Amino acid sequence: MTAPQNWMRDTVLTGGRWEPRSTTTDVENPATGEIVGRAASATVADVNLAVAAAVAAGTDWGRTTGKQRSAALEELVAALRDRRDELVAATIAEVGAPITVAEEAHVDLAIEIIESFAVIARDTPLRERTGNSVLLRRPAGVVACITPWNYPLYQLAAKVGAALAAGCTTVLKPAELTPITTYLFCDAVLETSLPAGVVNLLPGSGTVLGPALTEHPDVAVVSFTGSTMVGRQVGRSAGELIKRACLELGGKSASVLLADADFEVAVPATVDAAMLNSGQTCSAWTRLLVPQERYDEAVTLASKRADALVVGDPNDRSTDLGPLVSHKQRLSVLAAVDGAIERGARVAAGGTDPIPGLDGHYVRATVLCDIKRGDPVTTEEIFGPVLVVEAYRDEDDAVALANATDYGLAGAVWSADAEAALEIAARLDTGQVDINGALFNPLAPFGGWKLSGLGRELGVIGFEEFTEWTSVQM
Ligand code: NAD
Repeated sequence: MTAPQNWMRDTVLTGGRWEPRSTTTDVENPATGEIVGRAASATVADVNLAVAAAVAAGTDWGRTTGKQRSAALEELVAALRDRRDELVAATIAEVGAPITVAEEAHVDLAIEIIESFAVIARDTPLRERTGNSVLLRRPAGVVACITPWNYPLYQLAAKVGAALAAGCTTVLKPAELTPITTYLFCDAVLETSLPAGVVNLLPGSGTVLGPALTEHPDVAVVSFTGSTMVGRQVGRSAGELIKRACLELGGKSASVLLADADFEVAVPATVDAAMLNSGQTCSAWTRLLVPQERYDEAVTLASKRADALVVGDPNDRSTDLGPLVSHKQRLSVLAAVDGAIERGARVAAGGTDPIPGLDGHYVRATVLCDIKRGDPVTTEEIFGPVLVVEAYRDEDDAVALANATDYGLAGAVWSADAEAALEIAARLDTGQVDINGALFNPLAPFGGWKLSGLGRELGVIGFEEFTEWTSVQM
């Protein structure tokens, strides 16, 4: 594929104007190694410009009504819908996501989320009364939106949609590997009546721009999605400055199959969830927990499903798994699998062999079993297409095992009795639990316990992260 010219960018967006910069970074297609895009490498000086533009724009934008914010967000939805095909193509090109995943989980979901915030902006009162007080729900100020490479558009939508609905202004810092979708998002922003400076874009190095944004005195909220390691640094700096940091970090989520679950449904669904986006999904169910008497059956079903998944060209509609995002990510995933094998794990499907005919950063859909309890492969995030199968003795043991990780982002419970599943869900120390494959709900708060983060995204609760209260007694 020849990259469209408008994916070759050298600009930052500050105060509504694209400004050229002399240094750029290439964007690689992880399936082919081709250079498919280019982004400006913004500097600390650009952080000052962008934050100043966001502060200036905040004066008027922060005083808009919910209806006005809603109308602008609806315009953004329309502008994004108009370029849906290009957003999908860019997601395939920069992330390596298979087309069906790029359409549904990346682009359509992102647009749906912006739309949900248009509704929240319209319907959430900015003033409420309690007793002799008027409670003013006010915008928190300038929000730095720092996003990772695994779902670049979705992550952006969750942050920017909520921030704009709350009357905040924003500075976007996309991941180095995947800036194209964020450029296209900003193109859409510029087609709307959103005032100049409400959305600013600074592509470039996280280690340069991240601290400059986090530590900038005029940034009120840092909304960060990424690794727990970097999240700690963001949280530390924000804490020092007493500013809010919303941290959406890693996960190691369990899919718990109770003894009466329909394994023919639950096991393949768990494998599919673990492998979604080539396993580069923070909320992926990467652990399959089954009663010990049904362990062999679960391993057989899981490996059968993993073997049936098609790994290949992300532009092909029959592809289930594309490449991982980078060479580095591939090596890191292979090292995690090799380590588990050295410690005695058995490969039930997949493994670390290269896939003939595929030169990109591909890894096989892998299922590991016969792992010692507490082995790092069952507790640490791998962020690749790797599922581990673990046995539990009884339901108390299942809950203890599911909670035996430092993360707590997502999870699943499967049972013939949904109420019994709900009782187990209520004991899992995690931010989201799906029972029997229930659908993702973009209005439900999303975020983590423990090392999976602080705060929530999506829905009214996500919107609240970007507001401050002033209580006026009268
Ligand atoms: P990362 O932490 O390396 O980078 C995330 C973003 O932070 C990037 O834009 C990066 O440039 C920037 N950054 C780097 N150093 C920084 C610093 N010192 N200060 C501020 N920003 C800095 O993560 P990644 O490798 O891009 O993404 C993968 C990770 O993200 C995984 O661990 C995954 O679980 C996590 N993730 C979590 C969620 C969630 O909602 N909980 C969603 C997606 C991804």
